[in-house]
Amino acid sequence: MAERLIHILPEQIASQIAAGEVVERPASAVKELVENSLDAGARRIEVAIEKGGCALISVVDDGCGMSREDAILALRRHATSKIQSAADLTAIRTLGFRGEALASIASVSHLVLRTRLAEQTPEETEGVEITATAGEIDKVQGSAIASGTQIEVRDLFFNTPARLKFLKTVATEQSAVADAITRLALANHRVAFSFSSDGRQILDLTRASAPLERVRQLFGAKLAARMLAFVGTRETMSTHGLLTMSQESFASPRMLYTFVNGRVVRDKLIARAIAQAYQTLLPRGRHPAVVLFLALPPEAVDVNVHPMKSEVRFRASGEVFELVYHTLRERLAYQTEDDASDDAPDRTGVPSASAPRERQSNVASIAPARAAKADPIRVAPAYDFRPLRLVPDSQRAMPAQQALGIGFDKSRGEGQRSASSADAVPVYSRLRVIGQIFAGYIALEDDDGMILIDQHAAHERVTFEKLRAQLKNGGIEIQAMLAPATLELSPARAAHAQASVPELRAMGFDVEPFGPSSMILKGTPAIFGAEARVGLLSDMIESIGDGTRIRGESAFEDLLKQLACHGSVRVGRVLDAAEIHALLADLDRTEFKTNCPHGRPVHIRFPRGQIERMFRR
Ligand code: ADP
Ligand code: MG
Repeated sequence: MAERLIHILPEQIASQIAAGEVVERPASAVKELVENSLDAGARRIEVAIEKGGCALISVVDDGCGMSREDAILALRRHATSKIQSAADLTAIRTLGFRGEALASIASVSHLVLRTRLAEQTPEETEGVEITATAGEIDKVQGSAIASGTQIEVRDLFFNTPARLKFLKTVATEQSAVADAITRLALANHRVAFSFSSDGRQILDLTRASAPLERVRQLFGAKLAARMLAFVGTRETMSTHGLLTMSQESFASPRMLYTFVNGRVVRDKLIARAIAQAYQTLLPRGRHPAVVLFLALPPEAVDVNVHPMKSEVRFRASGEVFELVYHTLRERLAYQTEDDASDDAPDRTGVPSASAPRERQSNVASIAPARAAKADPIRVAPAYDFRPLRLVPDSQRAMPAQQALGIGFDKSRGEGQRSASSADAVPVYSRLRVIGQIFAGYIALEDDDGMILIDQHAAHERVTFEKLRAQLKNGGIEIQAMLAPATLELSPARAAHAQASVPELRAMGFDVEPFGPSSMILKGTPAIFGAEARVGLLSDMIESIGDGTRIRGESAFEDLLKQLACHGSVRVGRVLDAAEIHALLADLDRTEFKTNCPHGRPVHIRFPRGQIERMFRR
């Protein structure tokens, strides 16, 4: 008989292998530990690290704590209080459920766990302290700690040199930890967080009453004031959050924060829906800041697809995309007076210190119906799932903002708006026209300052949106020319141009090939009136090039942008008063008016205060 080759790995090695998946770096250990604290209903979580978390990670919470027996079990693999059966996997309402994190972290570190039940039983009146090395318990003793749980992880990966080698610099690891905490803090604004690194305090976040307040704590008042609240629903799904106006942008997508049922998730589909919503509003390669919460029934999303639980799978991904895209798109279409900058936190959201806590109460954003019962901290209507309809700004009722707990001041009458903020997009035609400067910019004023409009960018956006609307309603309108014109082409361009006749026609040019190197133009896009001449056609043939890049809707949209650009008034054209007023009125009727279709700003505001300061007034 052949020798037996297969054997079951000892528990400790199995844990180390699992640790390889769950604990990639200090930041992933921090994430797991903080998630456990959140699942335990903590209202304050303190994280401290040394040397980027490689020397020490300490997480202290005031959550429900564990009994002595549970604490010993918790360090074992597949030990969890959060699910019981496979059926529970279909509707997970806690952040953890795999029962792997503590065992994995313990198996690659020196770990101390101190814990004490918040609700003491007669048998169990003191806390417990457990010391373990590489997952083996060394010592169990009593501890005099206050209720809650403290975990200290020292020398992470001390026994897995291969993993140790993959760690980056202390600064990089520290910033990964800060990022992990930032994301968790955004998703749990009602929980206080502190974070220190090598003895230096980096974050100190008091309990916030709304996501916007948390955003302000994390990113500062300036950015928070430039964010708009959004909310949208679609059948059983809903999304809400905050997004930056289109004048704001970042060089990388690092300011995208997305959450699914309260869980920090990086999802390509959601990221794509966000990017598409901002299309033509931001210059290429620039990204917005978005904090987006998506809530859907637990059955509609599979969270058990990734060991670090940072990815999910949606049952109906198309619908998720539509919901996110349309909600953001509609919010961006009319970025009028800022609702988000109005600061009136919802006081009812502040929890009372004496409220009893329950185990596993981090479910409010996951299971709204049960939340109020399970978690007294979240009784505020901050995550009210009343169906909210999307309405244009002009008719926007308060409930949307109220539901988010932002921008709602009860002392102010319903429907009354805040004073126009310096960041808001004004109603252009209501501003006083000062005149045109440098034959390219329209100067306007209101009570708060002076505004310059880039006439080309403005006209380009107006034209582009009109073209797009025509295209949707059956095609771009063509105006027949009184006398057809001929366009002579070089032999090289002629072939390309003739191949592009279908695209040119779709864009409103009634053209026909005429011999090997010329074309006849019989009609042009009506929107340009007399401005459309052979020159515009020639420009478009140039833009199309060899035509290889025109595939699909978005490529055609790119062509429309070019058409709008070529056909719009240039900088250098003197406009008379009637033309200026017509442009402003047009602009007010236009969606996405804050930026030209290439993403450049349409207007810049010079606040009165700034001008006065410059004159030392
Ligand atoms: P999971 O979170 O997937 O259940 P973990 O290994 O992270 O698995 O934790 C194991 C168990 O230990 C949890 O189910 C929970 O009962 C308990 N636990 C871990 N951390 C804490 C904490 N900070 N407070 C209270 N209980 C905790
Ligand atoms: Mg866990």
